[in-house]
Amino acid sequence: MSNAPTILWFRKDLRLSDHPALQAAIAAGGPVIGVFIRDALVDQIGAAAKLRLDQSLSALADDMAAIGGRLIFRSGQAGAVLNALIDEAQAKSVYWSRAYVPDEQARDAQIKSDLRDRGVNARSFGGFLLFEPWDVATKTGGFFKVYTPFWRAVCTRDVAQPLPAVTRWPAPDHWPASETLTDWDLRGAMRRGGDIVAAHQTPGANAAQARLDEFIDLKVNDYKAKRDIPALDATSNLSDALALGEISPHTCWAAGQQAAMAGKQGAEHYLKELVWREFAYHLLHHSPHILTDNWRPDWAAFPWRTDANADDILRWKQGRTGYRFIDAAMRQMYVTGKMHNRARMLVASFLCKHMQVDWRIGLEWFADCLTDWDPASNAMGWQWVAGSGPDAAPYFRIFNPEGQREKFDPDNIYTRHWLAEGQRSPTQDALGFFNATPKSWDLRADAPYPEPMLDLAQGRAAALAAYEVMKAQNGK
Ligand SMILES: Cc1cc2nc3c(=O)[nH]c(=O)nc-3n(C[C@H](O)[C@H](O)[C@H](O)COP(=O)(O)OP(=O)(O)OC[C@H]3O[C@@H](n4cnc5c(N)ncnc54)[C@H](O)[C@@H]3O)c2cc1C
Repeated sequence: MSNAPTILWFRKDLRLSDHPALQAAIAAGGPVIGVFIRDALVDQIGAAAKLRLDQSLSALADDMAAIGGRLIFRSGQAGAVLNALIDEAQAKSVYWSRAYVPDEQARDAQIKSDLRDRGVNARSFGGFLLFEPWDVATKTGGFFKVYTPFWRAVCTRDVAQPLPAVTRWPAPDHWPASETLTDWDLRGAMRRGGDIVAAHQTPGANAAQARLDEFIDLKVNDYKAKRDIPALDATSNLSDALALGEISPHTCWAAGQQAAMAGKQGAEHYLKELVWREFAYHLLHHSPHILTDNWRPDWAAFPWRTDANADDILRWKQGRTGYRFIDAAMRQMYVTGKMHNRARMLVASFLCKHMQVDWRIGLEWFADCLTDWDPASNAMGWQWVAGSGPDAAPYFRIFNPEGQREKFDPDNIYTRHWLAEGQRSPTQDALGFFNATPKSWDLRADAPYPEPMLDLAQGRAAALAAYEVMKAQNGK
């Protein structure tokens, strides 16, 4: 026990419950100073993710204030910021929750070593994942490249029960100076449409817990049957909260397990989806190139289109392909910062297969537009759909956007909700898209709905031909 303050460096763990690093900081006995640092890695995230981060930080600051704490905001190189704060507060320890993206890990390793060199007790804790990526291995000691065996390897493991929420903050005598979220203007990155996207978010740990409770009470039973229908609000809708750490995966896992034990039908399927997130981080840890390069090296020979500014790629981004399911989905993302999982697979398939566009162009667009942006899940999702990733479906299974619409939105409820053109009374969301998009796009709700920009059969044939080119290049 000591009276020297412990610094708690918040990152993707913006909550007060089930927070091992925070619990340990409090158990150390002295005051705790919570800081969020706006460093280069924060500055480089996409516009919608920045807006969502701003909201989450604001909610965390409120939650801390309500129990006697204060969230300190500082910007700059993280190591330098921590050193300055240690000197100002006479702190002896710095704790944080472990990160798993290579750039974050490199930063953290350097900081931990530098702090320890100067005699500071620097410690990192779990909390962002259920299973440490290096703790799950195949029988031969390798890493899993296929999801189902990964699931089998982890599904019966013990997962720590969530820790209780902190209800009283051990405050120092004097709070260090802080910058403000207003000064940071993280929302400014949106330029246009920020207010519209912001209104669709329910930020903060309390709201995340309420969403989980509602999901478990009302939706998980039918989750397996309804999770693929984009017109329904049938999923947990917690991916943004998990990406920011407003809720821990342990809390979600415990709730899912309880629901399974209570005989709720879709609960096991929900647990399986949580494990897809774990699988993404497992893959990232063992094959970090998944973020930027074809996971399967032979895909380097695929004749991807890389003309990122081409008109048809802009039309895909704008939700103006002329295929209603695709366009509804792209607009849903532009307005809400989220897109239904079925639709993510479809729009990605259309871009990579019918249009043969490099998956990295789609990945970057998603990274700029998603409020639930998660580097590991995004990269895994894109490469899975493109065919270049692990466990991908056979290449010839190319989603047909019309067939998918008939199957998953047979009454056109989803597409009507998101597309204004040609409708007598479009929804506010459909109109909101036209208010959110940049003026330079010059889009109008009363314009005719666009004609299909490509022929599906031709697109499919071109995709299969491109695949054959790749195979030939690889001598197969
Ligand atoms: C091309 C593409 C890009 C994607 N980009 C992201 C992204 O940037 N961020 C992100 O969180 N998810 C991403 N996903 C996965 C998935 O679409 C979302 O996690 C899901 O739509 C979130 O909705 P939900 O919270 O209601 O999920 P639920 O259906 O309630 O699932 C529960 C949780 O499981 C996890 N999960 C579910 N499906 C997946 C999956 N396929 N991969 C990884 N985790 C999953 C999420 O954390 C989710 O909150 C992407 C999928 C594709 C195909």
